[in-house]
Amino acid sequence: MGENTAIEWAHHTFNPWIGCTKVGPPCDNCYAEALMDRRYHKVQWGPHGERKKTSEANWKLPLRWNKAAAPYDRKRVFCASLADVFDNQVPVEWRYGLFDLINATRNLDWLLLTKRPQNIAHMLPDTWGPHGWPNVWLGITCGDQDEYCRDFPKLAKIPAVVRFISNEPMLGLLTPCRLAEGMPLPDWIIAGGESGPNARCTDDVPAWARYQRDICRAVGIAFFFKQMVGKAPIPPDLMVREFPR
Ligand code: SF4
Repeated sequence: MGENTAIEWAHHTFNPWIGCTKVGPPCDNCYAEALMDRRYHKVQWGPHGERKKTSEANWKLPLRWNKAAAPYDRKRVFCASLADVFDNQVPVEWRYGLFDLINATRNLDWLLLTKRPQNIAHMLPDTWGPHGWPNVWLGITCGDQDEYCRDFPKLAKIPAVVRFISNEPMLGLLTPCRLAEGMPLPDWIIAGGESGPNARCTDDVPAWARYQRDICRAVGIAFFFKQMVGKAPIPPDLMVREFPR
């Protein structure tokens, strides 16, 4: 939390608060719950659990990163790895505070990745505007094709400089297709197998990833393959780590 991140697609991770509730199959082996609830007993997870705002010192870190970042060398901030920005159980004033911070740090690109796509539109600030904020990328997690078909239309309706899909953990083949005439495609796909002791293993991950990589190339979506199941070595042809323009 608040340190330089180990997540390959971001330079920093920022957690404005900690705590969440599982909302679907991609959450089954939630790393944050295993760490913050079951291992360190810091935050109780679940619908009757709690949300803990992080310290003032932690909230000052993005201001420091912003100051150090040059406009031509923008840094990506993943928000949040131990919570969900669009969680209904978070006090609204915390989210207002987060958007104030994002607005004050325009040298940083903020990657808001959620498993609650239905909440994004009504939880964004009033000043979001017809193009979205220039320093906010909006992403949703989709474990498989059914989740993509159900949830991407909700994201596609919201203006954003970058819309992305996190297909991690990969729980089925996901083809990033156009779901209706006039509906945009995602700008970016991050894909990866599950890691951790209870990782759902499937031998299909490399084949799914290759298929997805090829579709992305064909239709102009940036593709980023993060990891194999259980962090097995990535085959050279899947070491593809693109970012949207
Ligand atoms: S949304 Fe993320 S943090 Fe929340 S339970 Fe699911 S995996 Fe864990």
